[in-house]
Amino acid sequence: MRLNSREQFLRLDVEDPLASIREQFDLPPRLTYLDGNSLGAMPREARNRLSEAMSQWAHGLISSWNNAGWADAPIRVGDKIGRLLGARPSEVVLGDTTSVNLYKALNAALSLHRGGAILTDEQNFPTDLYIAEAVAKKWGVQLRRVPRNQLGEAIQHGVAVVTATHVDYRTGHMLDLRELTKAAHDAGALFVWDLCHSAGAVPLDLNGAEVDLAVGCTYKFLNGGPGAPAYIFAARRFHGDLNNPIPGWFGHDHPFDFDGGYRPAPDARRFLTGTPAILSVAALEAAIDLWLTIDIALVRSKSLVLADLLIDQVMRQCEGFGLELASPQEPATRGSQVSFRHPNAYGLVRALAEVGIVGDHRPPDIARFGLTPLYTRYVDMWDAAEQLSDVLRRRTYLEPRFEVRAGVP
Ligand SMILES: *Cc1c(COP(=O)(O)O)cnc(C)c1O
Repeated sequence: MRLNSREQFLRLDVEDPLASIREQFDLPPRLTYLDGNSLGAMPREARNRLSEAMSQWAHGLISSWNNAGWADAPIRVGDKIGRLLGARPSEVVLGDTTSVNLYKALNAALSLHRGGAILTDEQNFPTDLYIAEAVAKKWGVQLRRVPRNQLGEAIQHGVAVVTATHVDYRTGHMLDLRELTKAAHDAGALFVWDLCHSAGAVPLDLNGAEVDLAVGCTYKFLNGGPGAPAYIFAARRFHGDLNNPIPGWFGHDHPFDFDGGYRPAPDARRFLTGTPAILSVAALEAAIDLWLTIDIALVRSKSLVLADLLIDQVMRQCEGFGLELASPQEPATRGSQVSFRHPNAYGLVRALAEVGIVGDHRPPDIARFGLTPLYTRYVDMWDAAEQLSDVLRRRTYLEPRFEVRAGVP
Protein backbone atom coordinates (compact mmCIF):
# COMPACT_ATOMS: atom_id res chain seq x y z
CA MET A 1 0.00 0.00 0.00
CA ARG A 2 1.31 3.44 -0.95
CA LEU A 3 0.14 6.69 0.64
CA ASN A 4 1.60 10.11 -0.01
CA SER A 5 0.53 12.47 2.72
CA ARG A 6 0.20 12.58 6.48
CA GLU A 7 -3.51 13.38 6.00
CA GLN A 8 -4.04 10.02 4.33
CA PHE A 9 -2.55 8.27 7.37
CA LEU A 10 -4.74 10.31 9.70
CA ARG A 11 -7.76 9.28 7.66
CA LEU A 12 -6.89 5.60 8.16
CA ASP A 13 -6.86 6.25 11.91
CA VAL A 14 -10.33 7.80 11.75
CA GLU A 15 -11.64 4.70 9.97
CA ASP A 16 -9.79 2.24 12.23
CA PRO A 17 -12.18 0.03 14.28
CA LEU A 18 -9.45 -0.33 16.95
CA ALA A 19 -8.72 3.41 17.21
CA SER A 20 -10.75 3.95 20.39
CA ILE A 21 -8.80 1.27 22.29
CA ARG A 22 -5.77 3.58 22.47
CA GLU A 23 -7.69 5.75 24.95
CA GLN A 24 -7.64 2.84 27.38
CA PHE A 25 -3.86 3.20 27.68
CA ASP A 26 -1.97 5.79 29.67
CA LEU A 27 0.58 6.97 27.11
CA PRO A 28 2.72 10.10 27.14
CA PRO A 29 1.42 12.69 24.69
CA ARG A 30 3.57 13.39 21.62
CA LEU A 31 5.46 10.13 21.92
CA THR A 32 5.48 7.60 19.10
CA TYR A 33 5.95 4.40 21.02
CA LEU A 34 7.09 1.54 18.81
CA ASP A 35 8.56 -0.64 21.55
CA GLY A 36 5.47 -2.44 22.84
CA ASN A 37 7.21 -5.65 21.81
CA SER A 38 9.69 -5.04 24.66
CA LEU A 39 7.43 -3.43 27.24
CA GLY A 40 3.76 -3.00 26.45
CA ALA A 41 1.97 0.23 27.36
CA MET A 42 0.04 0.58 30.62
CA PRO A 43 -3.72 0.04 30.48
CA ARG A 44 -5.41 2.78 32.56
CA GLU A 45 -7.38 0.07 34.34
CA ALA A 46 -4.12 -1.37 35.75
CA ARG A 47 -3.97 1.54 38.20
CA ASN A 48 -7.43 0.69 39.56
CA ARG A 49 -6.67 -3.00 39.86
CA LEU A 50 -3.40 -2.35 41.65
CA SER A 51 -5.08 0.05 44.00
CA GLU A 52 -7.81 -2.55 44.65
CA ALA A 53 -5.19 -5.21 45.37
CA MET A 54 -3.41 -2.84 47.76
CA SER A 55 -6.68 -2.34 49.66
CA GLN A 56 -7.22 -6.10 49.80
CA TRP A 57 -3.75 -6.36 51.27
CA ALA A 58 -4.27 -3.51 53.74
CA HIS A 59 -7.77 -4.40 54.90
CA GLY A 60 -8.33 -8.06 54.04
CA LEU A 61 -4.81 -9.14 54.98
CA ILE A 62 -4.44 -12.92 55.02
CA SER A 63 -8.16 -13.49 54.32
CA SER A 64 -7.65 -12.03 50.84
CA TRP A 65 -6.04 -15.29 49.76
CA ASN A 66 -9.55 -16.73 49.90
CA ASN A 67 -11.84 -13.71 49.73
CA ALA A 68 -10.13 -11.74 47.00
CA GLY A 69 -9.30 -14.65 44.71
CA TRP A 70 -5.56 -14.47 45.33
CA ALA A 71 -5.02 -18.21 45.78
CA ASP A 72 -6.55 -19.18 42.45
CA ALA A 73 -5.11 -16.21 40.52
CA PRO A 74 -2.53 -18.32 38.61
CA ILE A 75 -5.32 -20.58 37.35
CA ARG A 76 -7.94 -17.90 36.77
CA VAL A 77 -5.61 -15.62 34.82
CA GLY A 78 -3.95 -18.63 33.18
CA ASP A 79 -7.33 -19.70 31.82
CA LYS A 80 -7.99 -16.19 30.53
CA ILE A 81 -4.63 -16.18 28.73
CA GLY A 82 -5.51 -19.65 27.46
CA ARG A 83 -8.46 -18.11 25.60
CA LEU A 84 -6.01 -15.86 23.73
CA LEU A 85 -3.84 -18.86 22.87
CA GLY A 86 -6.54 -21.26 21.70
CA ALA A 87 -6.20 -23.46 24.77
CA ARG A 88 -8.81 -25.17 26.95
CA PRO A 89 -9.35 -24.41 30.64
CA SER A 90 -6.70 -25.97 32.94
CA GLU A 91 -4.08 -26.03 30.16
CA VAL A 92 -2.41 -22.70 31.02
CA VAL A 93 -1.11 -21.41 34.34
CA LEU A 94 0.53 -18.15 35.23
CA GLY A 95 3.76 -17.88 37.17
CA ASP A 96 7.52 -17.38 37.23
CA THR A 97 9.32 -16.08 34.15
CA THR A 98 9.54 -17.36 30.61
CA SER A 99 13.08 -18.57 31.33
CA VAL A 100 11.95 -20.63 34.34
CA ASN A 101 8.91 -21.95 32.51
CA LEU A 102 11.06 -23.00 29.58
CA TYR A 103 13.27 -24.88 32.01
CA LYS A 104 10.21 -26.63 33.39
CA ALA A 105 8.73 -27.41 29.97
CA LEU A 106 11.99 -28.78 28.50
CA ASN A 107 12.58 -30.98 31.53
CA ALA A 108 9.01 -32.25 31.44
CA ALA A 109 9.29 -32.98 27.72
CA LEU A 110 12.61 -34.81 28.14
CA SER A 111 11.26 -36.88 31.00
CA LEU A 112 8.62 -38.18 28.57
CA HIS A 113 11.04 -38.73 25.69
CA ARG A 114 14.26 -39.82 27.32
CA GLY A 115 17.46 -40.32 25.43
CA GLY A 116 17.09 -38.06 22.41
CA ALA A 117 18.64 -34.72 21.54
CA ILE A 118 17.22 -31.26 22.02
CA LEU A 119 17.01 -29.37 18.73
CA THR A 120 16.84 -25.60 18.52
CA ASP A 121 17.30 -22.60 16.28
CA GLU A 122 20.87 -21.28 16.66
CA GLN A 123 19.53 -17.71 16.56
CA ASN A 124 17.00 -18.39 19.32
CA PHE A 125 16.65 -15.81 22.11
CA PRO A 126 19.73 -16.11 24.36
CA THR A 127 17.83 -17.15 27.49
CA ASP A 128 16.25 -19.98 25.51
CA LEU A 129 19.69 -21.14 24.36
CA TYR A 130 21.14 -20.98 27.88
CA ILE A 131 18.23 -22.93 29.34
CA ALA A 132 18.26 -25.52 26.56
CA GLU A 133 21.98 -26.01 27.07
CA ALA A 134 21.58 -26.48 30.82
CA VAL A 135 18.72 -28.95 30.39
CA ALA A 136 20.64 -30.94 27.76
CA LYS A 137 23.60 -31.15 30.12
CA LYS A 138 21.41 -32.22 33.03
CA TRP A 139 19.90 -35.07 31.00
CA GLY A 140 23.19 -35.98 29.30
CA VAL A 141 21.76 -35.40 25.82
CA GLN A 142 23.01 -33.43 22.85
CA LEU A 143 21.87 -29.88 22.07
CA ARG A 144 21.70 -29.45 18.31
CA ARG A 145 21.62 -25.87 17.06
CA VAL A 146 20.72 -25.35 13.43
CA PRO A 147 19.94 -22.25 11.34
CA ARG A 148 16.32 -21.21 11.72
CA ASN A 149 15.51 -21.98 8.09
CA GLN A 150 16.82 -25.54 8.51
CA LEU A 151 14.80 -26.39 11.59
CA GLY A 152 12.19 -28.36 9.63
CA GLU A 153 14.67 -30.66 7.89
CA ALA A 154 16.66 -31.18 11.12
CA ILE A 155 13.62 -32.67 12.88
CA GLN A 156 14.46 -36.33 12.55
CA HIS A 157 14.52 -39.50 14.58
CA GLY A 158 16.95 -39.15 17.46
CA VAL A 159 15.50 -35.76 18.37
CA ALA A 160 13.44 -35.93 21.55
CA VAL A 161 12.45 -32.30 21.90
CA VAL A 162 12.43 -29.34 19.53
CA THR A 163 12.29 -25.83 20.91
CA ALA A 164 12.06 -22.55 19.03
CA THR A 165 10.62 -19.08 19.28
CA HIS A 166 7.57 -18.81 17.05
CA VAL A 167 8.23 -15.17 16.09
CA ASP A 168 11.92 -14.25 16.04
CA TYR A 169 12.76 -11.34 18.32
CA ARG A 170 15.27 -9.78 15.93
CA THR A 171 13.59 -9.99 12.55
CA GLY A 172 9.98 -10.81 13.36
CA HIS A 173 10.23 -13.92 11.17
CA MET A 174 7.38 -16.28 12.02
CA LEU A 175 7.70 -20.05 11.80
CA ASP A 176 4.83 -22.30 10.73
CA LEU A 177 3.69 -23.48 14.15
CA ARG A 178 1.25 -26.11 12.89
CA GLU A 179 3.58 -27.62 10.30
CA LEU A 180 6.64 -27.80 12.58
CA THR A 181 4.62 -29.24 15.46
CA LYS A 182 3.39 -31.94 13.09
CA ALA A 183 6.93 -32.57 11.81
CA ALA A 184 8.08 -33.07 15.41
CA HIS A 185 5.24 -35.50 16.10
CA ASP A 186 5.97 -37.42 12.90
CA ALA A 187 9.57 -37.84 14.10
CA GLY A 188 8.40 -39.00 17.55
CA ALA A 189 9.46 -35.73 19.21
CA LEU A 190 7.70 -33.07 21.26
CA PHE A 191 7.78 -29.36 20.45
CA VAL A 192 8.15 -26.67 23.12
CA TRP A 193 7.21 -23.26 21.68
CA ASP A 194 8.25 -19.85 22.97
CA LEU A 195 5.37 -17.46 22.26
CA CYS A 196 6.89 -14.25 23.69
CA HIS A 197 6.40 -12.35 20.42
CA SER A 198 3.23 -14.17 19.38
CA ALA A 199 0.50 -13.83 22.00
CA GLY A 200 -1.25 -10.51 21.42
CA ALA A 201 0.62 -10.09 18.14
CA VAL A 202 -0.73 -12.84 15.87
CA PRO A 203 -3.72 -15.21 16.10
CA LEU A 204 -2.88 -18.48 17.84
CA ASP A 205 -4.68 -21.82 17.97
CA LEU A 206 -2.55 -24.10 20.13
CA ASN A 207 -5.15 -26.87 20.37
CA GLY A 208 -5.90 -26.67 16.65
CA ALA A 209 -2.19 -27.13 15.92
CA GLU A 210 -1.89 -29.93 18.52
CA VAL A 211 0.84 -28.06 20.35
CA ASP A 212 2.43 -30.00 23.21
CA LEU A 213 3.99 -27.39 25.45
CA ALA A 214 4.47 -23.64 25.19
CA VAL A 215 5.71 -20.74 27.28
CA GLY A 216 5.55 -17.00 26.94
CA CYS A 217 5.78 -13.67 28.65
CA THR A 218 3.02 -11.17 29.40
CA TYR A 219 4.83 -7.84 29.56
CA LYS A 220 5.35 -7.38 25.82
CA PHE A 221 2.34 -7.46 23.46
CA LEU A 222 0.01 -8.48 26.31
CA ASN A 223 0.74 -5.24 28.26
CA GLY A 224 0.92 -6.94 31.67
CA GLY A 225 3.52 -4.59 33.16
CA PRO A 226 7.27 -4.76 33.82
CA GLY A 227 8.23 -8.20 35.08
CA ALA A 228 4.64 -9.48 34.98
CA PRO A 229 4.48 -13.26 35.48
CA ALA A 230 4.86 -15.56 32.49
CA TYR A 231 2.65 -18.47 31.45
CA ILE A 232 3.08 -22.11 30.57
CA PHE A 233 0.77 -24.20 28.39
CA ALA A 234 0.58 -27.98 28.63
CA ALA A 235 -1.81 -29.91 26.36
CA ARG A 236 -4.43 -31.86 28.26
CA ARG A 237 -3.36 -35.19 26.73
CA PHE A 238 -0.10 -35.07 28.72
CA HIS A 239 -1.46 -33.84 32.02
CA GLY A 240 -0.99 -37.03 34.01
CA ASP A 241 2.55 -37.60 32.72
CA LEU A 242 4.41 -34.32 32.95
CA ASN A 243 6.87 -33.77 35.77
CA ASN A 244 7.69 -30.34 37.08
CA PRO A 245 11.46 -30.23 37.81
CA ILE A 246 10.79 -27.57 40.49
CA PRO A 247 7.87 -29.23 42.27
CA GLY A 248 6.86 -26.66 44.85
CA TRP A 249 3.79 -26.56 47.02
CA PHE A 250 1.61 -24.53 44.62
CA GLY A 251 1.86 -27.40 42.15
CA HIS A 252 0.65 -29.88 44.75
CA ASP A 253 -2.88 -31.20 44.34
CA HIS A 254 -3.84 -29.67 47.72
CA PRO A 255 -1.17 -27.13 48.75
CA PHE A 256 -2.94 -26.18 51.94
CA ASP A 257 -3.07 -29.75 53.24
CA PHE A 258 0.62 -29.23 54.04
CA ASP A 259 1.19 -32.81 52.99
CA GLY A 260 4.79 -33.99 53.55
CA GLY A 261 4.82 -35.88 50.25
CA TYR A 262 4.46 -34.31 46.81
CA ARG A 263 1.34 -35.23 44.87
CA PRO A 264 1.09 -33.15 41.67
CA ALA A 265 -2.13 -31.40 40.65
CA PRO A 266 -3.87 -33.30 37.85
CA ASP A 267 -3.58 -30.56 35.22
CA ALA A 268 -1.26 -27.70 34.15
CA ARG A 269 -1.40 -26.42 37.74
CA ARG A 270 1.36 -28.95 38.50
CA PHE A 271 3.73 -26.53 36.75
CA LEU A 272 3.32 -23.98 39.51
CA THR A 273 6.04 -23.75 42.12
CA GLY A 274 5.55 -21.04 44.73
CA THR A 275 3.37 -18.16 45.84
CA PRO A 276 2.01 -15.96 43.03
CA ALA A 277 3.10 -12.29 42.77
CA ILE A 278 -0.36 -10.87 43.49
CA LEU A 279 0.38 -7.20 42.85
CA SER A 280 1.84 -8.00 39.44
CA VAL A 281 -1.05 -10.30 38.68
CA ALA A 282 -3.50 -7.49 39.49
CA ALA A 283 -2.02 -5.19 36.84
CA LEU A 284 -1.70 -8.02 34.37
CA GLU A 285 -5.31 -9.11 34.81
CA ALA A 286 -6.48 -5.62 33.82
CA ALA A 287 -4.53 -5.99 30.58
CA ILE A 288 -5.83 -9.50 29.89
CA ASP A 289 -9.43 -8.45 30.56
CA LEU A 290 -8.96 -5.73 27.95
CA TRP A 291 -7.49 -8.27 25.52
CA LEU A 292 -10.52 -10.52 25.97
CA THR A 293 -12.72 -7.76 24.47
CA ILE A 294 -10.55 -7.57 21.33
CA ASP A 295 -10.92 -9.42 18.05
CA ILE A 296 -7.39 -10.66 17.29
CA ALA A 297 -8.27 -10.88 13.58
CA LEU A 298 -8.65 -7.08 13.56
CA VAL A 299 -5.32 -6.75 15.36
CA ARG A 300 -3.60 -8.94 12.81
CA SER A 301 -5.05 -7.18 9.78
CA LYS A 302 -4.16 -3.75 11.19
CA SER A 303 -0.67 -4.96 12.09
CA LEU A 304 -0.08 -6.12 8.52
CA VAL A 305 -1.19 -2.79 7.05
CA LEU A 306 0.95 -0.87 9.57
CA ALA A 307 3.97 -2.97 8.60
CA ASP A 308 3.34 -2.54 4.87
CA LEU A 309 3.04 1.20 5.27
CA LEU A 310 6.15 1.51 7.40
CA ILE A 311 8.22 -0.63 5.05
CA ASP A 312 7.00 1.30 2.01
CA GLN A 313 7.60 4.72 3.55
CA VAL A 314 11.03 3.84 4.91
CA MET A 315 12.22 2.12 1.75
CA ARG A 316 11.16 5.11 -0.35
CA GLN A 317 12.38 7.87 1.93
CA CYS A 318 15.57 6.27 3.17
CA GLU A 319 16.89 4.84 -0.08
CA GLY A 320 20.65 5.13 -0.44
CA PHE A 321 21.37 5.39 3.29
CA GLY A 322 22.45 1.81 3.87
CA LEU A 323 19.20 0.67 5.48
CA GLU A 324 18.08 -2.87 4.68
CA LEU A 325 14.83 -4.59 5.55
CA ALA A 326 15.60 -7.39 8.03
CA SER A 327 12.00 -8.55 8.42
CA PRO A 328 10.37 -10.87 5.89
CA GLN A 329 8.73 -9.12 2.92
CA GLU A 330 6.09 -11.84 2.94
CA PRO A 331 3.37 -10.85 5.45
CA ALA A 332 2.42 -14.47 6.20
CA THR A 333 5.84 -15.12 7.73
CA ARG A 334 6.07 -11.87 9.68
CA GLY A 335 4.97 -11.24 13.26
CA SER A 336 4.07 -7.76 14.49
CA GLN A 337 7.30 -5.85 14.10
CA VAL A 338 9.46 -4.35 11.38
CA SER A 339 13.26 -4.49 11.65
CA PHE A 340 15.93 -2.88 9.57
CA ARG A 341 19.66 -3.51 9.43
CA HIS A 342 22.09 -0.64 9.50
CA PRO A 343 25.77 -0.53 10.55
CA ASN A 344 24.86 2.27 13.01
CA ALA A 345 21.58 0.79 14.17
CA TYR A 346 22.26 1.66 17.81
CA GLY A 347 22.95 5.33 17.07
CA LEU A 348 19.90 5.49 14.82
CA VAL A 349 17.60 4.17 17.54
CA ARG A 350 19.04 6.58 20.11
CA ALA A 351 18.79 9.56 17.77
CA LEU A 352 15.19 8.63 16.95
CA ALA A 353 14.31 8.41 20.65
CA GLU A 354 15.50 12.00 21.07
CA VAL A 355 12.94 13.15 18.55
CA GLY A 356 10.14 11.13 20.15
CA ILE A 357 10.18 7.92 18.12
CA VAL A 358 10.87 4.97 20.42
CA GLY A 359 12.06 1.73 18.84
CA ASP A 360 14.95 -0.41 20.04
CA HIS A 361 18.24 -1.92 18.97
CA ARG A 362 19.30 -5.56 18.95
CA PRO A 363 22.90 -6.54 18.25
CA PRO A 364 24.64 -6.51 16.00
CA ASP A 365 22.88 -4.21 13.56
CA ILE A 366 19.10 -4.31 14.04
CA ALA A 367 16.81 -1.32 14.55
CA ARG A 368 13.45 -2.74 15.61
CA PHE A 369 9.97 -1.23 15.58
CA GLY A 370 7.17 -3.04 17.37
CA LEU A 371 3.63 -2.67 16.02
CA THR A 372 0.98 -2.92 18.72
CA PRO A 373 -2.35 -2.22 17.00
CA LEU A 374 -4.23 -1.57 20.26
CA TYR A 375 -2.38 1.72 20.54
CA THR A 376 -0.14 2.12 17.47
CA ARG A 377 -1.68 4.58 14.99
CA TYR A 378 -1.32 4.65 11.23
CA VAL A 379 0.05 8.16 11.47
CA ASP A 380 2.85 6.80 13.66
CA MET A 381 4.16 5.00 10.56
CA TRP A 382 4.35 8.29 8.67
CA ASP A 383 6.02 10.08 11.56
CA ALA A 384 8.52 7.28 12.21
CA ALA A 385 9.57 7.13 8.55
CA GLU A 386 9.87 10.94 8.33
CA GLN A 387 12.04 11.12 11.42
CA LEU A 388 14.15 8.15 10.39
CA SER A 389 14.89 9.70 7.02
CA ASP A 390 15.68 13.02 8.72
CA VAL A 391 18.12 11.37 11.14
CA LEU A 392 19.78 9.54 8.24
CA ARG A 393 20.00 12.64 6.06
CA ARG A 394 21.40 14.84 8.83
CA ARG A 395 23.59 12.02 10.18
CA THR A 396 22.73 12.94 13.76
CA TYR A 397 23.08 9.24 14.66
CA LEU A 398 26.87 9.70 14.38
CA GLU A 399 26.99 12.14 17.27
CA PRO A 400 29.38 10.90 19.96
CA ARG A 401 26.75 10.92 22.74
CA PHE A 402 24.95 8.10 20.93
CA GLU A 403 28.00 5.89 21.24
CA VAL A 404 27.60 5.62 25.00
CA ARG A 405 25.53 2.48 25.64
CA ALA A 406 22.65 2.53 28.06
CA GLY A 407 22.22 -0.44 30.42
CA VAL A 408 19.04 -1.64 28.69
CA PRO A 409 19.42 -0.99 24.95
C1 LIG B 1 11.41 -11.51 26.10
C2 LIG B 1 11.76 -12.92 25.84
C3 LIG B 1 12.07 -13.79 26.87
C4 LIG B 1 12.15 -13.25 28.26
O1 LIG B 1 12.30 -14.21 29.24
P1 LIG B 1 12.12 -13.79 30.77
O2 LIG B 1 12.45 -14.99 31.51
O3 LIG B 1 10.68 -13.35 30.93
O4 LIG B 1 13.01 -12.64 31.06
C5 LIG B 1 12.31 -15.11 26.57
N1 LIG B 1 12.26 -15.56 25.29
C6 LIG B 1 11.98 -14.73 24.25
C7 LIG B 1 11.93 -15.25 22.87
C8 LIG B 1 11.74 -13.38 24.50
O5 LIG B 1 11.49 -12.57 23.50
